[in-house]
Amino acid sequence: MNKTAVIYHEDYLKHDTGPYHPERKERLSSIMKLFKQSGILEEVTTLKPEKCSEEDILLVHTEKHLNHIKQLSERGGGQIDGDTYCGRETYEIARLAVGGEILAGKYVAEKKADNAFALVRPPGHHATRDKAMGFCYFNNVAIMIKYLQKNYDIKKVCIFDWDLHAANGTTEIFYEDPSVLVISIHQDPRVTYPGTGFTDEKGEGNGEGYTMNIPVPPQTGDADYLYLLENFILERIEKYAPDFMVISAGFDSHKGDPLGQLMLTEKGYSKMTESLQRLAENVCDGRLIVELEGGYNLDAVATSSYAVLKTLLGIQPEIQINGGASEAIKDLTYKLREEFNALW
Ligand SMILES: [Zn+2]
Repeated sequence: MNKTAVIYHEDYLKHDTGPYHPERKERLSSIMKLFKQSGILEEVTTLKPEKCSEEDILLVHTEKHLNHIKQLSERGGGQIDGDTYCGRETYEIARLAVGGEILAGKYVAEKKADNAFALVRPPGHHATRDKAMGFCYFNNVAIMIKYLQKNYDIKKVCIFDWDLHAANGTTEIFYEDPSVLVISIHQDPRVTYPGTGFTDEKGEGNGEGYTMNIPVPPQTGDADYLYLLENFILERIEKYAPDFMVISAGFDSHKGDPLGQLMLTEKGYSKMTESLQRLAENVCDGRLIVELEGGYNLDAVATSSYAVLKTLLGIQPEIQINGGASEAIKDLTYKLREEFNALW
């Protein structure tokens, strides 16, 4: 069995987005309830994070953005855009989310655990350098990576983001940076928030080719994702040879999610985690963390997190994925291979 750390803080429930908002505290309490009932927490090291510093946030974000969120919270809160609300506690809890990710990263970088699962909220992958959007305030994963690159002998990092939505914030932050390979697989941006994340958005300057946007049509499921992984993504990551790997796990790509039309299941998440974990063992001494992004079906977010945690621990029984990939996914895979093989 692997040594796995789970990062969680009950204060994550204090970030209040209002009564009808999908990004609600029950997402996390639902996960923790299942973890407790199942007894799996006895198999892991549970860690309670602290808030990150302002200096940590400034590794990625502008001072203006930091002050905007801070002052909005201090004034009692306010609406940032149509779907992103900043509450009284948001600034402090967003700092705690960043702190949770940094703790996960440090723990794995220092080899205190083989891998870690950061169960944080608010999520982060839509937050750009200077803007909160899509329920995200600070880009948790980007800050964690900058922190690791600054404080540890970690140079190259790969982020694999399987959230329903394109990781526009994460890709923007590392758009010209070849030291971070960002792979975002998401539902077609023509019909999905935030409307970006097309294949031709692939990085610029020195970063050209180190951003991979992989849009897939509604109804794409487990067999399709595995086909993409096994016929394109895994070999690219292996060639890139990162020192550290991160899965940005949004469970809104689950078939039961109210926000999307993708068809992933617990089996698919588990299989993808297993493949990436095996690859991490080959390329970066197994250093892998999973961090929570979206996921709005309260049952699916819990059962999917549970499947991923069992995989991280190495106690998930062998899983069989039935059926094959669609012709559309096979074509997409072929095009991606052609395009990125020509770049590096
Ligand atoms: Zn999402």
